[in-house]
Formats: sequence, C-alpha cells, structure tokens
Amino acid sequence: MSFLFNRLRGMQDILPPEGDFWRKVESVMLSCAEFYGFSFIRIPILEFTELFDRSAGDSSDIVQKEMYTFSDKSGRSVTLRPEFTAGVLRAVVNELSGNTVFPLKLMYFGPCYRYEKPQVGRYREFFQFGLEIFGGSSNLADLEIILLANQILLELGIGDFNLEINAIGCSDCRQIYLDEIRSFFGRNRDSLCETCNNRLSTNPLRIFDCKNDDCKKISENAPHTIDFICENCKTKFETFKKFLDISNISYDINTRMVRGLDYYTNLVFEFILDFDGKPLTICGGGRYDGLSKSLGGPDLPATGCAFGIERLIKLLHDKEICQNIQNNGIVYVACIDEESKILAVDIVCKLRSLGIKSDYDLVDRGLKSQMRYANKMGYKYVAVIGQEEINSGVIGVKDMSSSEVISFKLSNFAEEFDKFLKN
Ligand code: AMP
Repeated sequence: MSFLFNRLRGMQDILPPEGDFWRKVESVMLSCAEFYGFSFIRIPILEFTELFDRSAGDSSDIVQKEMYTFSDKSGRSVTLRPEFTAGVLRAVVNELSGNTVFPLKLMYFGPCYRYEKPQVGRYREFFQFGLEIFGGSSNLADLEIILLANQILLELGIGDFNLEINAIGCSDCRQIYLDEIRSFFGRNRDSLCETCNNRLSTNPLRIFDCKNDDCKKISENAPHTIDFICENCKTKFETFKKFLDISNISYDINTRMVRGLDYYTNLVFEFILDFDGKPLTICGGGRYDGLSKSLGGPDLPATGCAFGIERLIKLLHDKEICQNIQNNGIVYVACIDEESKILAVDIVCKLRSLGIKSDYDLVDRGLKSQMRYANKMGYKYVAVIGQEEINSGVIGVKDMSSSEVISFKLSNFAEEFDKFLKN
C-alpha cells in the first residue's frame, strides 16, 4: 500500500507484535536494574550542541559528522542527543545539593540520534538502555555495572557474549600514552590515510578504529596502553581482574580497545557478540571521572555503560530466544450474540481484576474467526460463550496447545478459572 509519506532513512517503525516484544525486553532490563538498586532518570532529547561538542570531543566521529544539529527559533544551536551520558551528567550536576546521597545509581531508556550510514545494527534513530553510577570512586562501582550488564544479558537468554576490558590510564598516564602513540603514528604518517593524518593532531587514538587496511596494519604494531599506565592504575586493574574472577565473569583483555568518545579514563569495556559473522558491540562503557569537571562541574567520579536495543532485539530473534519473552495472553473469551457479549464483558472484567490477562472480540467476528484470531495472538485458552452454555450454565475452556476442553460453572467462572491456573 502506498501513502504520501515514508519514514526517514535509518529510522524504524516498530509495529505489533514487535512493539510488545520491545516492551518485554525493556521491562526485563529495567526490573533487573531495579533489583540492583538503580533508579530511573528521564532527560530531554534536545540539548545545547556545546554539551556534546565538549563531552564527546571535537574530534570524535559523533561531533564531526553524526549529530542532528539545527538552530531553534531563537537561533541557539541545539542537537538531538547522540548518547545519554552527557545529558544525564548535566541533569545530575544541575540538581546536586548538599542533600544528595552518593552513590547515585541511575538507569535510562530512550532514543538517540546519529547521522550514520544505515546498515545491519546501525541506525540513525536507535534506542539505548544505560546505567550510570555517580560518586562511586571505588572500582567496585565499575564491577557493579559489569555484573548488572552481565546479568541482564543472561536474563534475556543471551549467554555467548565476550566481555573485553582494557585499562586506558588516568588523566596523568593517559597523556604519556597519547604522546607515545602520536610519535609512533607520526613516524608512519606517510602510510596513514588522509583522515588518520588529521586524527594525528586531533585524537590519535581514533586511528585504532580506522577500517583502512594500511592504517590497520600500522596499528597492529602500535604501543599498548597497558605498558604505559602508572603503578596506581596497574594495581587497580589487577584488583579489578580479581573482582571479575571471584564473580565468575570471564573476560579478555583487549589492549587496543579505546572506545569512540574522548571522556573515558581508567577502565573501558565492551560486551561483544557475533552479528552475521561479524563481531559487534552490544554494550559498551567505562569510567569517566574527569567529565564533570571538564564541563565546569564539581569533581564527580562516574562510571557507566549503554546497550544498543536494536542489536539486542536482532540477536534475540536470530537466536529464536524471543518466544520466551513473547507477550501472550492467557484467556480469550469468545462470544456470539448480544446476550453472550454481556456475559463476556462481566467475565473479562472479573478475570482482569484477578490479574488474569484476558480479552474478547471487538470486531463482531464469527466464532470460527474468533478462534483463529485467539490462536494467532497466542492465547493459551479460549472460553466459548453461546446459547448452549447460557442454557446449561457450564462453559468449556479449550487448552489451545493440547485441544483438551475443561468445563467450568458459568456463574463462578473467573474465580474457578483463577484456582485452576494456580493449581
Ligand atoms: P556508544 O555510545 O557508541 O558506546 O554506543 C553504545 C551502544 O549503542 C553500542 O554498543 C551499540 O550497541 C549501540 N549503538 C551505537 N550506535 C548505534 C547505531 N547507530 N545504531 C544502533 N545501535 C547503536
């Protein structure tokens, strides 16, 4: 069917039943985080452009080419958020008071916008679920984020992921490494692509992310972050590995992982999964202790991570894990005439008040068609009310998987059915 308008490239419509599936996935993530003591934060989609320029870094791909930036009616430059962390930090710092109790453990869920080339697992509007801990300077706060991210993946039924971690150094030793890497790539400048030659002066770490074969080859021989971090950072990293070991979390150390945003320091990590034969990050994060101060705020240790929901959903479909999380109804009450409709309304109201997910016909379908609909929508049971049932005072409920029919008294149906489900 055609319509005057189409959706924008890189954006998706999520229609039912997919939309219901998304809600289920979202609720698994939120309740898991709630169990770990995280509270929900909602922030605006639109922020001043400078917030992202300064947090993601002028040289980041996001700021250079991916932001949806425009002037509002007062001529201010505003941007659709390309990620949450900077906005969440802005909100927290703006609201800080003497009464704020640390650590603040926050979770969020919502859309982000990046003008990227759309491809599998990469959209221009995509959803993130994320976690941030503010005020937790101990590396147990980093552990808490990783434990929870790990738990969320397991609860969703995803077990075959790879956790990669790296220590990229504190504000002091990171600079030593940056100088080292700049001079290494400087010596190889003639073989680097034009973009990486520019990165040399802006942010040489980005060269590691370059897809050009020559640049990739040179990167292979570049110095490793881990060889340049200070004793304090080394000790912290060693302890962190012990935390992971004792928590039974397996990991690999990837000394090339630098992450795409400027604000990370100390620990960075990624949960990686196979996407159509290619490794793709499903959740990435790390510590960003210096970000608050660099944006004019107080010293505020912080750590966090973000999941990409589209990638997560695609994986659940690919692995056929989605059935477990499908939003199926329990009982569909089929009715055939005005008299049985009244009884159906009464029964469904009572079932719902007992917390049983139930529904009835809204489109005046015939009985057969109602049965087909209930089957398609995944109802476990169908109760049929017709003249025969009204006359006998007994209704049969069909178990849709076994086709067995169980009889219940019409006058007391909701309570009896509730008892039956509980047995
Ligand atoms: P980042 O903020 O770049 O660390 O991204 C966090 C997570 O969001 C990634 O690990 C991806 O799962 C997801 N993500 C980032 N960019 C996109 C995109 N353009 N489309 C879909 N998911 C994305």
